[in-house]
Amino acid sequence: MTGLNTELPIKSWRRIKRIAGSATAVSVALSVILTNVIMETFSAGTSLAGLLVAITMPIILGGPLVFVLTLRHEQLRQANLQLQALLSTDWLTGCRSRGAFTHQVADYLDAPANAGGALLVIDADNFKTVNDRFGHDVGDQALRQIADALHAATANTAAIIGRLGGEEFGIFLPGTDAVAADRVAQRVRSAVAAIAFSPAGTKWPLSVSIGGAIYSARTQFSVLYRHADQRLYQAKNSGRDCVAMMQAA
Ligand code: GH3
Ligand code: MG
Ligand code: MG
Repeated sequence: MTGLNTELPIKSWRRIKRIAGSATAVSVALSVILTNVIMETFSAGTSLAGLLVAITMPIILGGPLVFVLTLRHEQLRQANLQLQALLSTDWLTGCRSRGAFTHQVADYLDAPANAGGALLVIDADNFKTVNDRFGHDVGDQALRQIADALHAATANTAAIIGRLGGEEFGIFLPGTDAVAADRVAQRVRSAVAAIAFSPAGTKWPLSVSIGGAIYSARTQFSVLYRHADQRLYQAKNSGRDCVAMMQAA
């Protein structure tokens, strides 16, 4: 199983019809012109029978070939698009993958018009205990619920959310100042703390620690990440389930 959907969407079929139709029409036009030239040059002139052959041959011989080639090309194009989507999405949580997240944020930081924003690095607290106590599948379920909480807490904002690896997530807040970034971070922290997580009937508290780096001058992803990660370390040392932020640039 590849996980790819092999059925083509309607717009692909329209595209195939358009391309195959145009290619066949061009072939017919060229065939008619060429046949005319040949008949004018080597016989008494244009004949109806000659014209009919010039029109029907490209349709009968070339039409199916062009259709099959266009169909194959479109199937490959669709598979490519689906692979790109799979690569940029984390399979477990549905967040952006680390690569897609990093690229998108780096692109945003590179654009000269985009100044100001914040990066939050969010790490689930004592997560090893969840796995040790309830098993890896339950741990996976907790990660999905944490990801849902991150999305819910940042709904109606321009936040970009990614899973950076393991039990660590990233949220980039474009165009956000220190006050707004702190508000979002606190909302994320509370949303995770409010998750009703009861594996095997046992109520188990989930929490995250958050490190944040705010910038107002131009900077790079690696700089923001380093500062946010330092703050995350500080949040962990301050007892977890808390937020630590700094102005990075
Ligand atoms: P801390 O509060 O210091 O972050 O403690 P922690 O236990 O969360 O940190 P630690 O780095 O010791 O352990 C991380 C755990 O996260 C261990 C690893 O098994 C678990 N983990 C990482 N990725 C996944 C995953 O995809 N699924 C599950 N179920 N667990 C994961
Ligand atoms: Mg952790
Ligand atoms: Mg971690």
